[in-house]
Amino acid sequence: MLQNNPVLKSKIDQLWDKFWSGGIVNPLTAIEQITYLLFMKRLDDLDLKQQADADFTGDAFTSRFAGVWVPPEHREKSKKDIPSIEGSFTPKAKKIWEAIAGDIQIKILNNVWCVHCRKGSSMGNLSGKIESGMLVLRGTCTKCGGDVARIVENE
Ligand SMILES: [Zn+2]
Repeated sequence: MLQNNPVLKSKIDQLWDKFWSGGIVNPLTAIEQITYLLFMKRLDDLDLKQQADADFTGDAFTSRFAGVWVPPEHREKSKKDIPSIEGSFTPKAKKIWEAIAGDIQIKILNNVWCVHCRKGSSMGNLSGKIESGMLVLRGTCTKCGGDVARIVENE
């Protein structure tokens, strides 16, 4: 087929060159990428056809490509941008605590068992240190002011 179709052969050669210059030198990876491009092209064609059909019949249609696309590296970024919650930490404990995303820190501090209230509570006046290789947070219950503690399991 390629031998009889110089235009198609030229396009495929161009694609191979693009992959090569983009660092994809393994033919299997290149085939995988080409397959994926064909899949995406087919998906786009079908979507456009469905849109055209819907326009013709007056039916409602929402394209699968509608909306704003947010690159993966920017998703959930706002949550991770929450600054680290301050407290009194030993240097090693501080390092482990600051490696935890801000939104997770909040979840941890809002998920503390208070023995005085006998129910779940939040921790204030935070301090942390390493005990038996685990990060142990200590502080006071935000409801009753009693002492509370929590272990942060290693992930
Ligand atoms: Zn309490």
